[in-house]
Amino acid sequence: MSNIDSVPGAGARTGRCLCGAVSYRFDVEPEAIVLCHCGHCQRHSGAAFTVNVLVAREALEIKGAPRSHQTVGIENGNLRDRLFCGECGTPILTVLHERPDLMIVKAGTLDDPSGLKPSAEVWWRRAQDWIEPSPDRARFDGDAP
Ligand SMILES: [Zn+2]
Ligand SMILES: [Zn+2]
Repeated sequence: MSNIDSVPGAGARTGRCLCGAVSYRFDVEPEAIVLCHCGHCQRHSGAAFTVNVLVAREALEIKGAPRSHQTVGIENGNLRDRLFCGECGTPILTVLHERPDLMIVKAGTLDDPSGLKPSAEVWWRRAQDWIEPSPDRARFDGDAP
């Protein structure tokens, strides 16, 4: 693992959990930013939806040892490893078993989340009923195709 405390490059993004026991950095453009309204994301985050930054797994450097809780999609059986800090409980990363080349970074853990432009919303039919659709984002009833 490379030194996460080194000065990040121009495009690098860094992030961490609430207590700082787990941190990460990546130096690539995210492949996509996707909002997820699925029931597991709502429950795991305690929020109405998660803001997911899809990053090439090989580009993500993790410092610390997050714990993991695996969920099984209620409707499609898809496996997700939901990584969180064992000290403070912050949800930080998700691994999609069908896309092992990706890591999903929870945008709220970024040190600087500016400039993110979500392009899609998944599990739209589970969205809380006060959320208005946006013309700027594609909507999918389940996982993105
Ligand atoms: Zn923590
Ligand atoms: Zn979800």
